[in-house]
Amino acid sequence: MSSVSLPVRTRFAPSPTGFLHLGGARTALFAWAFARRHKGQFILRIEDTDVERSTPEAIQAILDGMAWLELDYDEGPFYQMQRMDRYREVLAQMLAQGQAYHCYMSPLELDALRVAQTARGEKPRYDGRWRPENLNAGQHPPPGVGPVVRFKNPHSGSVAWDDQVKGRIEFANAELDDLIIARSDGTPTYNFCVVVDDLDMKITHVIRGDDHVNNTPRQINMIRALGAEPPVYGHLPTVLGADGTKLSKRHGAVSVMHYSDEGFLPEAMVNFLARLGWAHGDDEIFTREELVMWFDIAHVNPAPARFDADKLQWVNHEHLKRLPEAELGTRLMPFLVRAGFDTAQGPEPAAVGALLRDRSRTLVEMANAASYFYAAPPVTPESIAQHVGDAVRPALLELDERFAAMPWQRDTIAAALKEAAARHGLKPPQIMMPLRYLVAGTASTPALDAVLALLGRAKVRERIAAGLAL
Ligand code: GLU
Repeated sequence: MSSVSLPVRTRFAPSPTGFLHLGGARTALFAWAFARRHKGQFILRIEDTDVERSTPEAIQAILDGMAWLELDYDEGPFYQMQRMDRYREVLAQMLAQGQAYHCYMSPLELDALRVAQTARGEKPRYDGRWRPENLNAGQHPPPGVGPVVRFKNPHSGSVAWDDQVKGRIEFANAELDDLIIARSDGTPTYNFCVVVDDLDMKITHVIRGDDHVNNTPRQINMIRALGAEPPVYGHLPTVLGADGTKLSKRHGAVSVMHYSDEGFLPEAMVNFLARLGWAHGDDEIFTREELVMWFDIAHVNPAPARFDADKLQWVNHEHLKRLPEAELGTRLMPFLVRAGFDTAQGPEPAAVGALLRDRSRTLVEMANAASYFYAAPPVTPESIAQHVGDAVRPALLELDERFAAMPWQRDTIAAALKEAAARHGLKPPQIMMPLRYLVAGTASTPALDAVLALLGRAKVRERIAAGLAL
């Protein structure tokens, strides 16, 4: 276990510009699990300063996704748009203390500088011409130009941190130019808001996607300029598709709520997401509680993780198999309703789920496979003729009579099936396959005696009679 000084405070800071996809959900999960592991606090912060691209629907999708995965937060959601006064206050303070300065360079001048630098084979960067110490005698703010505010990044030395996932990372300050922290209209920029928030919210561990690695040295410099110590950082590797390319709609670049619709269990999703880059020995199937108990940021693999849809199905199946029966019924119920079944017309969903869970990887598959429990199968004279040969009919009729007057339970049904087959010189499957077809309209069901027992005597006999009459 990496050593951690208490109390831990982590945050998830999504930009609400799209749905909460797998990568974002995994980031949220790791920040949450780390906080829970260390009995710390988990904070939700909505980074909505990109007003053009932020939408209320995206905010709702984030909240829904977190609620579904049960990633509960102790504070927030905080909205950056509601913290503008605070950002302005810190900007003013940094200007007053000389940690930031006004820069009057126009976009045109910047372009010209870039062109000149590129022509000289230099990396384009702001040249610091409005840094107070660089001002020459005749240099005055041009009239009518709204200045931006730039952070006075240190000139020399380097900035480094021990990334909890990637190891030590170091940037030379010479590579970092003076970052714009407020635009000419006074609005603060992204990196600055993150810094103010992480400090105000007393974040001890920043766990986020590695697309932010390049922001981190700038953020650390600003935090130090503000007289604070930076938090610990852990940058999570990207989640790639199974083929090693960027996630696409086809594999995983969809809202996590899509998986809820598709009949995945949130605990399976949590398990699956956790294994995208993190492992606890060889454990593949674990509970939320085990994840919290075991989670160690130092065990996150720095190499990109791969999304594997088959594995997700497998993990879901394993969790379906482990659900207590009553709970399985509760989870299955809405999927039965959605499939159009009148659940009052059939057995308890819990019992149906218990029978079907060995063969269903999702609740959607389970609900689809449950159709014959809630409605007679759509058989036709042709399909009956195909599945129920003349030779087996006398045996079925006799069996049906037996069914009329015997205790209705799995073992007696199994015995009756065997006896009827034997008396008519048939092998058990020769009677079971046609009967299965009459009752369920399919060749694939769980053990027939169990299906018949659950379906009930009346329905079984009705369906035998109706089918044989066709
Ligand atoms: N808002 C950023 C994003 O959605 C995350 C920023 C951070 O975690 O520092 O990528």
